Amino acid sequence: MKTLRFSALTEVLSRKPVHSQAPSDKISDYFGNHVFNEDAMLAFLPKEAYKSVKEAIVTGAKIDRKIADQVASAMKNWAMTLGATHYTHWFQPLTGTTAEKHDAFIDPIEGGRVVERFNGGLLVQQEPDASSFPHGGIRNTFEARGYTAWDPTSPAFIIDKTLCIPTVFVSYTGEALDNKTPLLRALAAVDEAATEVCQYFDKTTTKVIATLGWEQEYFLVDTALFAARPDLVLTGRTLFGHAPAKGQQLDDHYFGSISSRAQAFMRDFETECFLLGIPTTTRHNEVAPNQFECAPVFSECNLANDQNQLLIDVMDKVAIKHHFRVLNHEKPFAGLNGSGKHNNWSLATNTGKNLLSPGKTPKTNLQFLTFFINTIKAVHRHDDLLRASIATASNDHRLGANEAPPAIISCFIGSQLSQVLDELEVQVKDGKMTPEEKTNLKLHVVGKIPEILLDNTDRNRTSPFAFTGNKFEFRAVGSTANCAFPMTVLNSIIAQQLKDFKKEVDALIESSELTKDEAIFQILRNYIEESKSIRFEGDGYGDDWVVEAGKRGLNNIKETPYALEFLKEKKVLELFESCNVMNQVELEARHEILLEQYQMTIQIESRVIGDLVRNHIVPTAIRYQNTLIENVKGLKDVLGDAAKDASKEPLDMIIKISEHISALKSNVDKMIEARRQANKIESTEEMAKAYCKNVKPYLESLRDSTDRLEMMIDDEHWPLPKYRELLYTR
Ligand code: ADP
Ligand code: MG
Repeated sequence: MKTLRFSALTEVLSRKPVHSQAPSDKISDYFGNHVFNEDAMLAFLPKEAYKSVKEAIVTGAKIDRKIADQVASAMKNWAMTLGATHYTHWFQPLTGTTAEKHDAFIDPIEGGRVVERFNGGLLVQQEPDASSFPHGGIRNTFEARGYTAWDPTSPAFIIDKTLCIPTVFVSYTGEALDNKTPLLRALAAVDEAATEVCQYFDKTTTKVIATLGWEQEYFLVDTALFAARPDLVLTGRTLFGHAPAKGQQLDDHYFGSISSRAQAFMRDFETECFLLGIPTTTRHNEVAPNQFECAPVFSECNLANDQNQLLIDVMDKVAIKHHFRVLNHEKPFAGLNGSGKHNNWSLATNTGKNLLSPGKTPKTNLQFLTFFINTIKAVHRHDDLLRASIATASNDHRLGANEAPPAIISCFIGSQLSQVLDELEVQVKDGKMTPEEKTNLKLHVVGKIPEILLDNTDRNRTSPFAFTGNKFEFRAVGSTANCAFPMTVLNSIIAQQLKDFKKEVDALIESSELTKDEAIFQILRNYIEESKSIRFEGDGYGDDWVVEAGKRGLNNIKETPYALEFLKEKKVLELFESCNVMNQVELEARHEILLEQYQMTIQIESRVIGDLVRNHIVPTAIRYQNTLIENVKGLKDVLGDAAKDASKEPLDMIIKISEHISALKSNVDKMIEARRQANKIESTEEMAKAYCKNVKPYLESLRDSTDRLEMMIDDEHWPLPKYRELLYTR
């Protein structure tokens, strides 16, 4: 009998490579061709409408109905030149993925005929039947209406002959039902606060944007093998699998040459990205076999996040053509490197200055230090909220699991900048400085920064939040995450911190003899002192850090339902309210939804593992045990009494297999009972915690018995593709 596993392997080996052709050898010939970008707007929009849209993008000004009609018609005409027949409002509900409902452009006219039509009303607002998106209690079923509304700051694009219009998704009463709305509000808050602070240094700064450059890690698995692993299909990760004899210990995959099959896929999906204006530039092998990374050039945060969501979608579609499935899960394979989505973040001004990049003069360096130190201070103030912002069942496998940043939030800045901060702390005296002191500070501390950053090569890969020369890298974000929530949190805490900084500096100038620069130095010095406990330069993966962090009073919460408790803190609500990012209802809804998602993820995994144990593993074990029993009987027939010695080995195995089978059976029963008990709990939070404490441990114990059986049972009998096949089949 041929198992599904062997059929899958045969199928993989018979694969022919897929060849695709990019529209041109030169990327610049077709980059952005499927985006309603500047060029398309200039070609299709009347001048007046073009100006309005540009203004809406920069200042957030409203677009009136007449202009909206013109934009809609231009978008439709442009889209039709590319063969589009449908349009959709593309939004990001709190499921963490994207949603779309397509409508044809057609409008009936007399004589049973139709014309293509698209007007401003349809562009600006839609009312999708939204009752089945997660809302965390914001909408009860009577008021199930939700609206999507056009976000002109992210350009429309075409996929599969459909014009996709990025939109926000809000309830009838205006509460955010999506990931984009709070992000846009946080970006507005950080713009306002950072622009005000920039005024200390440069009056020409009138706008500050947050920039985001994400790096996406993923695995590729052949579709046939994927389909033969119900755990991968239903949960995105392997719930069983004995470690292969060769894992990643040789480090021979990282930056190794990319297999031609994987490369054909990458070329094809990058072509799609380029058409969609996503500037993916980097591709390389990651640490684990069949693990890869791609990264674009960074851009404005909201656009970058939309592009990340789009890329994940595009990757899946293109992968299927190449008979691959993309695994975005944070930990598809136990014992191997997990996948993250590093979020590189900075602030940039309308004048083109990166505020986290030191300048050439002491003055611009003081601006750099201001933003740099305020960022550290904000992280110190809200480390727990940052932890909560990346908490999911799947990221729990990564954080603190010895090869990803730990669940303790800390900030790495490098030895040289640490020295600068230490010197500032010592040299800035309370009150007025002498001219000598000031000169010394400017020349020897602040003035030195650009030089030292040039050779600042000490990068710490174990830090969850690291300064990397001209940006911070939030490395603890999970590979499945929608960057919007961590970016909403980060930009909000920076906005709040900068606002407070401005207030403190202004008050100090008002109440003392200090000059503006002296006051800034003074407040920054206080921040350096107050936020010291968040700075950590050592090995974040080590056990020593766990102990040290405990002494510093930093939290180390490894499980999502507990990490999410931070969302209930008063200071978190105050933060979001003060920046107009979320109100209490919106925040509570998010907490509720994140808990529900956690509980449902564990529930699904638990059901899948239970089914697989009963339908795949135990029957296979029994079948193999029967062949051993036949073997023992046969030995006895042939050898008679002399069979005793020869039967020892198979008899031992028969007994061991029986032990594993009974452990599996009893643990499945206990796990089902634990679920039954947990399901009775009224409170979402308590239910999530019960799943975490009482159900999740069975996933481990069931896996343990199964992985042992995998090593005992004849390879011919084993029903599921093994790790070595999933990871090494090219
Ligand atoms: P790595 O972290 O892998 O060593 P790099 O430091 O070269 O890689 O860059 C990582 C990412 O940082 C890139 O995707 C890049 O687009 C992004 N990045 C660079 N500068 C900025 C910035 N000012 N703001 C946001 N992201 C940035
Ligand atoms: Mg990186």
